[in-house]
Amino acid sequence: MLTTTTDGLTDRASQVTVLGLGDMGSAIARTFISRGYRTTVWNRTASKALPLVDSGATAAPTAAEAVAASRLVVVCLLDSTAVDEVLGAVDAAAAGTVLVNLTSGSPQQARANERWANERGAAYLDGKIMGDPPYVGTPNVMFPFSGSRSAFEAHGPMLRELGTVVYHGEDAGSAAVEFMAQVAMGYEILIGFLHTLRLVQAEGADVADFAERAASSVASLSPLLTSIGNAVRTGDYPPDLGALNVQAALMDDLISHRESIGVDVVRMREVKDLMDRRIADGFGAQGFSSLFELLAKS
Ligand code: NDP
Repeated sequence: MLTTTTDGLTDRASQVTVLGLGDMGSAIARTFISRGYRTTVWNRTASKALPLVDSGATAAPTAAEAVAASRLVVVCLLDSTAVDEVLGAVDAAAAGTVLVNLTSGSPQQARANERWANERGAAYLDGKIMGDPPYVGTPNVMFPFSGSRSAFEAHGPMLRELGTVVYHGEDAGSAAVEFMAQVAMGYEILIGFLHTLRLVQAEGADVADFAERAASSVASLSPLLTSIGNAVRTGDYPPDLGALNVQAALMDDLISHRESIGVDVVRMREVKDLMDRRIADGFGAQGFSSLFELLAKS
């Protein structure tokens, strides 16, 4: 929280700059302002700074001047092209800062940003955002971070103002790995869920009621995720969800049911194909987790 020097002035430990004032950058800046941090903001379209200035922020005329105002600089732009453009304009002004980039992007981009920062005498932390702008400042938004450990230790308390923060280690790319994996898992689960709602609706059942029951079923999956993670780590695949020999027979029923009511079966066929291949390779007594062995692209 806010710290004050002996002469009553706010010191640099409680100052922060936010570059990028879209929906997310504005939510971040607003959170820092509301927690009492002296916040400097900059945005390419200057008018987006006005509501934040009304709330107590200082708007800087250029990104370089905004960066010069604080030791901690949070970047939240559309994508890595925007980050490259803005950092290119900041250049030497980054010296001595801790650059915290919360823009979505790949692990490779995070590592390249770290090299850029270190070459200019700045420390680098990469962060990713898992949640929506209205929830920034609450535990409902997850922020994986990675990069400079000393920067994280020094500024962790300030970053925790934004939500639930987890540090994933010194490889600047690790937070992006976590983000990519979690987001991709969300999409994989949700497309399966949409297929299932198709089935429920085609059979005349209420999709919203089903969704409520499905939410409790998904909650009970967490021990299974843990045990699948352990099976993949050790390469020792117990018959989770039953032996593949048994599961494959059930898959035939699931596929023919979907076909009979006109619901797409492409994903179910993919699962069945993996099971058949694994069984043909002599692993029919193993469980669902063993399909992992077939998922590397040759
Ligand atoms: P917005 O589209 O609302 O804002 C984009 C920001 O990037 C604006 O400040 C825009 O400036 C700036 N920008 C874009 N291109 C350039 C450029 N070439 N040079 C300078 N500035 C540029 O996006 P969000 O704020 O919602 O998202 C920001 C980041 O947060 C993204 O990486 C997004 O993936 C991530 N995120 C967003 C979530 C959300 O729900 N919104 C959820 C999780 C992550 P200008 O105003 O001038 O156009």
